[in-house]
Amino acid sequence: MESNTHQHLKHQALLWLKAKMTDLCATEVKFVVQRRKRTADAVGINMKRKEARIVEVKASRSDFLRDEVLQGELGYDAVAAYAYILTPAGLLKKEEVPERYGLLEIDEYDNIKVIKRPVKNKKPKLKLETLIKRTGRAATNAFLFQQESKLSRDKTNGAFEKKALAHLVRITCAQCKKRNSYVIAPDAEEITCAVKTCGHKIEVHKGRPFHVTSYNEDFLKQLSQVAEQKNIYVVEDPVSKEKNVSDQRTS
Ligand SMILES: [Zn+2]
Repeated sequence: MESNTHQHLKHQALLWLKAKMTDLCATEVKFVVQRRKRTADAVGINMKRKEARIVEVKASRSDFLRDEVLQGELGYDAVAAYAYILTPAGLLKKEEVPERYGLLEIDEYDNIKVIKRPVKNKKPKLKLETLIKRTGRAATNAFLFQQESKLSRDKTNGAFEKKALAHLVRITCAQCKKRNSYVIAPDAEEITCAVKTCGHKIEVHKGRPFHVTSYNEDFLKQLSQVAEQKNIYVVEDPVSKEKNVSDQRTS
């Protein structure tokens, strides 16, 4: 899972790029360069200058040291006019930063300072058009995701998603067009519309479900503990239930 710091820095990188009068900005921009898949933390495009800038976020030294992309020939500096590394203040020494990259530092009040200027790459390995396309897609996806998230943000941050027993999804009924939340099995193919007067059988994959969060056994345990404490009800443990049945048989 992405650390909170990394996420925060990525967002600050986006704001910084936007302030540079860039026309199109996005985080998590996916692209392919010479068959290598890459995801840039933040990309900004300036149409007038016909330039792309990429900011790669490093929240810790270990994060920086284990990144092979930064040191390799097909790094972010190879595909855009300018590439930067953004870190908390004092994390890296100037000399450690790969040649063409700039170094940006952010303080505790989110002020970003240029510590080292990047060297312009006059012949990027990706066409600007390709980066515009990729950045446009990422920006559109982010916007749509945000619209959806207003209704159904995963406030658990995926706390119960390991070995999930069920997913909470939002899905629109093909018939009545009502959008509702459903708890479904990971392999569920069909669900019944929650609108009583409708009851349409919704084909899950065709309904393009939006995944809100997941629930596992740990969640079930904690939920039933709370329910027990509150004397609401006790979720029966299927194993002990079976045992009771066989006990009855033998007696
Ligand atoms: Zn319906």
